[in-house]
Amino acid sequence: MRTRPIVAIDGPAGAGKSTVARRLADALGFVLVDTGAMYRAVALAASRASIDWKDGKALAEMARGLVSRSALTFERDAELGVRVKLAGEDISEAIRTPDMAQGASTVSTHGEVRAELLELQRMAGRDGGVVLEGRDIGTVVFPDAEVKFFLTASPECRAKRRHAELVAKGTSASFEDTLADVKRRDAQDENRAVAPLRRADGAILVDSTALSFEETVAHMLADVKRAALR
Ligand code: C5P
Repeated sequence: MRTRPIVAIDGPAGAGKSTVARRLADALGFVLVDTGAMYRAVALAASRASIDWKDGKALAEMARGLVSRSALTFERDAELGVRVKLAGEDISEAIRTPDMAQGASTVSTHGEVRAELLELQRMAGRDGGVVLEGRDIGTVVFPDAEVKFFLTASPECRAKRRHAELVAKGTSASFEDTLADVKRRDAQDENRAVAPLRRADGAILVDSTALSFEETVAHMLADVKRAALR
């Protein structure tokens, strides 16, 4: 029996999961686990090792090596949410590019890669007092999480937010390209054979299209507190 709950947040790209997860973890004093960053780190490490994102077997072998050597580390960071290191090198910025987003989406289609990262995710969350965000936390990683959310918003709204982030970073991407990226990733995440993106049984649906960030956080925080009292 866990004394503190596991909070699972799943949903499509650009729904605001990272920002909301970070705020919830801060408000609750919980650990934050960004599972998307794990897939992004595998995509980056693969491209540096000239491993094809489509080669599931080679990727899984590489991921196994990274996990067994504890080469992937995640530290809480006030500015970034989570700081990611690969063999000691800070890759937090390098994994946040549209290319690595697409790479993560491709490497995560392989069941054998997912299996390698699953243990890492379960270890990080098993004692509770944790907010995990991803695509399959409530369906696969912790189906018994005390609180599960499916956070979504319309594709146009998600692309608008993502585009504003890219522009703020000085990246030159058009809105149309960003929207096409969002839709391509949705299709890849929803249609893959292993752990496809879907709302978990018992997950609370939060559609943030018409909500401000503050409203979304307040709504979810109230749900966590209610569930913790049960
Ligand atoms: O959340 P983020 O955009 O960083 O995730 C990058 C990609 O990693 C997603 O598009 C998805 O394909 C994959 N992912 C996943 N399962 C998770 C987290 C992320 O398949 N739990």
